[in-house]
Amino acid sequence: RDLVYPADPTQQHRHRNQQDTPSIRVMTWNILAQGNRPSIRVMTWNILAQALGEGKDSFVRCPQEALNWEERKYMILEEILTYRPDILCLQEVDHYYDTFQPILASLGYQSTFLPKPWSPCLDVASNNGPDGCALFFRRARFSLLHTSHLRLSARMLPTNQVAIVQTLRCRVTGQRLCVAVTHLKARSGWERMRSAQGTDLLHSLRAISSRPSGSDPETACRDEPGRGTEGLPVIICGDFNAEPSEDVYRRFASSPLGLDSAYKLLSADGQTEPAYTTWKIRPSGESCSTLDYIWYSHRAFAVDTLLDIPTEEQIGPDRLPSYHYPSDHLSLICDVYFRDPKDHGH
Ligand code: NDP
Ligand code: CA
Repeated sequence: RDLVYPADPTQQHRHRNQQDTPSIRVMTWNILAQGNRPSIRVMTWNILAQALGEGKDSFVRCPQEALNWEERKYMILEEILTYRPDILCLQEVDHYYDTFQPILASLGYQSTFLPKPWSPCLDVASNNGPDGCALFFRRARFSLLHTSHLRLSARMLPTNQVAIVQTLRCRVTGQRLCVAVTHLKARSGWERMRSAQGTDLLHSLRAISSRPSGSDPETACRDEPGRGTEGLPVIICGDFNAEPSEDVYRRFASSPLGLDSAYKLLSADGQTEPAYTTWKIRPSGESCSTLDYIWYSHRAFAVDTLLDIPTEEQIGPDRLPSYHYPSDHLSLICDVYFRDPKDHGH
């Protein structure tokens, strides 16, 4: 799985390894050249809570051994370490304290975890605790200015879904940004709940990104791209449990934060989300849908590299998870870079 930088960066190129095994994915060069500006690699992934995978999900075509935690945890870590993101947003984490926090800390990541108030993992016998969202960043790249742990509300009522928002300062350029991870309410019939949760998160993000943050005194922010009336640039990652046709997607796409969804840039017209980010077979049938997103402030950031979505053939007839792919969701990874402050186009 190579990062490829073709000679002509003005065209969209797609590189595939001729000997692709089902788990091989390659980064796709996309549209905008970054010059020598340092990019920020962002990864988001619903890694499938171990208790849910074994006790609740009923993935009928996934061999039970492929869900064995002692092997699956290494496959998840292998995928993370293959790409070494600067910012890592995970959902359905029910092995934070015993696995991801210590291992990734030893590899240079600082992190925080927020469990769901009533995690469905707790219904499963021999669970490992509640699942939740976790946010990691590379200590060598960023310093932490502020953390918000949010329980999302829907029409003023607290819900069972959460989000983490952190304000970071880039150690290379001094620029600040807000990063968020969330996992919205699942299942059909809950579209209005998701929309309300998304609205709540957007409100919180506007407040957090526009205020002086934590220990960081409000200093020379005029030079920072995306500053001005909009506040700090934001990146919001997560499993929204919503297709692009849903109201919550429209709310993000039309938010005053000026957000765009990175994975649209994989499509030929640059306007279409991937056909799927999760694909599984339950007793009720096959479910192939686009639920996961990386949103970014388009005035402040440009995207230049994305990790390809595997083809149907690569995923295979039994779909996800499998021996090749440890979760029912695919990881999304992109490189973003700060636009030149003078270049605030779309
Ligand atoms: P969600 O409906 O958001 O879903 C929880 C998980 O189930 C998600 O991780 C989701 O995965 C997965 N999921 C989605 N579709 C299916 C499916 N068809 N079959 C199996 N799993 C699926 O959960 P909530 O946060 O609303 O929590 C619901 C549970 O939490 C309840 O069943 C109960 O166990 C517990 N609870 C307990 C309360 C209490 O008072 N004790 C109160 C509230 C909740 P993905 O996102 O990948 O689709
Ligand atoms: Ca799930």
